[in-house]
Amino acid sequence: MNLADHDPCPCGAGRPYSGCCGRWHAGAQHLQAPDAEALMRSRYSAFVLGLNHYLLMTWHPGTRPPALEPPEPGLKWLGLEVKRHVPVDDTHAIVEFVARSKLGGRAHRLHETSRFVKEEGRWFYVDGETR
Ligand SMILES: [Zn+2]
Repeated sequence: MNLADHDPCPCGAGRPYSGCCGRWHAGAQHLQAPDAEALMRSRYSAFVLGLNHYLLMTWHPGTRPPALEPPEPGLKWLGLEVKRHVPVDDTHAIVEFVARSKLGGRAHRLHETSRFVKEEGRWFYVDGETR
């Protein structure tokens, strides 16, 4: 999927892609998502756009898989809803979200509570519990 800079961001924050997750995708080495919710949103957008490099880079090295499975053919992401963003302390946060998708005409709902950690000024996804 390709997006123009002015297209609405897939994460649903209501801003153009270039002024939302696009900043973190493009500037990965220099410009970092400032908090766990922004990182969570940018990771959802990266799933939508197939930016596996970004997904791996924002995954904590301790839990990061060696590679990502290719997405199921025909999988369509429909939207993200961030339910809670709980900063635990300066370097730990929890984000609860629901991501909706559709595969083969069937709707799926991923409800996950994810843990994030900040190391050397960068937020990382650690792991999550689905319910
Ligand atoms: Zn976004």
